[in-house]
Amino acid sequence: MENVIIIGSGCAGWTAALYTARANLNPLLVTGQMPGGLLTTTTLVENFPGFPEGVDGFQLMMNMQQQAERFGTRTRMASIVTSVDLSSRPFKVTIDSEVVEAKSVIIATGAGHRHLGLESEKLLDTKGVTYCATCDGALPMFRNKPLVVVGGGDSACEEALYLTRFASVVYLVHRRDTLRASKIMADRVLANNKIKPIWNTTVEEILDVKQDVVTGVRLKNLISGEESTIDCSGVFVAIGLIPNTQLFKGVIDMDDAGYIIPTHGAHTNVPGVFVAGDCADKHYRQAITAAAMGCMAAIDAERFLQDEA
Ligand code: NAP
Repeated sequence: MENVIIIGSGCAGWTAALYTARANLNPLLVTGQMPGGLLTTTTLVENFPGFPEGVDGFQLMMNMQQQAERFGTRTRMASIVTSVDLSSRPFKVTIDSEVVEAKSVIIATGAGHRHLGLESEKLLDTKGVTYCATCDGALPMFRNKPLVVVGGGDSACEEALYLTRFASVVYLVHRRDTLRASKIMADRVLANNKIKPIWNTTVEEILDVKQDVVTGVRLKNLISGEESTIDCSGVFVAIGLIPNTQLFKGVIDMDDAGYIIPTHGAHTNVPGVFVAGDCADKHYRQAITAAAMGCMAAIDAERFLQDEA
């Protein structure tokens, strides 16, 4: 019987692991398919306190893992939780195909990339359509070619700036005429002469499904209704996140968008189940806020287990 199973290995998961390990709870952390979570796909993280020169996202997650394991966290690397039974205690968590019982569970499953929802996007995925510039930007197929980034938030700005290293030009296609991104990121993008914003515009279709590779995009100006086509070799979709909470639907309270709603602190509606990070946060979604929520979930779990003892 586990004291606490932590599901997820982003900033929230590792911080929860660090705190529960130091509380002698001997936590078991299940990393999921993508150990380290979304932060491992970014480059330099400049806004995590304590790193005046910034820190590589992947390295930051490795550091968090090492720190959590140093105090006794047990890691189920690249394992996934396929189902949970939270209807009675002990909770039952199926990890890969093994059912493990637990006195408490911390949900830190994070969020995944939102898709445009186009048929052509689906068909050309990995054939020029991607959701991660740091993972794919340096591929030969994108070098010295025009590239499109879709979105107007921090992610889109970060992707566009990163891609200027490889692309001949980066078109930033945004559905409004102002960026949602933080001012510092927006200013960098707008000052970069390799990035050409295309305002008030949506991607209607990614070309060319017949050739089975990205050759361009068909765009629609939302004000004039006019359609146009631009040539490009890659489409980087950066239009936000969707919480990874499908496993808990119908059991753990969540809003219409699927974000888990804590009742107080990191508690959920099910006593003994706690939540932390992007899967419960649609407002802040920062590495540091996820880490802080992981700490809260660990402390709440520790107190819960103490009270139950
Ligand atoms: P976001 O802030 O939610 O921005 C999503 C962008 O995509 C918005 O501009 C939105 O348009 C657009 N969009 C959404 N759905 C769309 C659709 N179907 N078609 C076209 N455009 C669509 O998401 P994010 O940029 O991924 O950032 C998520 C969080 O992570 C934010 O809190 C952000 O600050 C944080 N983050 C921070 C950093 C950093 O600090 N360096 C880096 C990356 C992310 P509208 O503007 O019209 O809504």
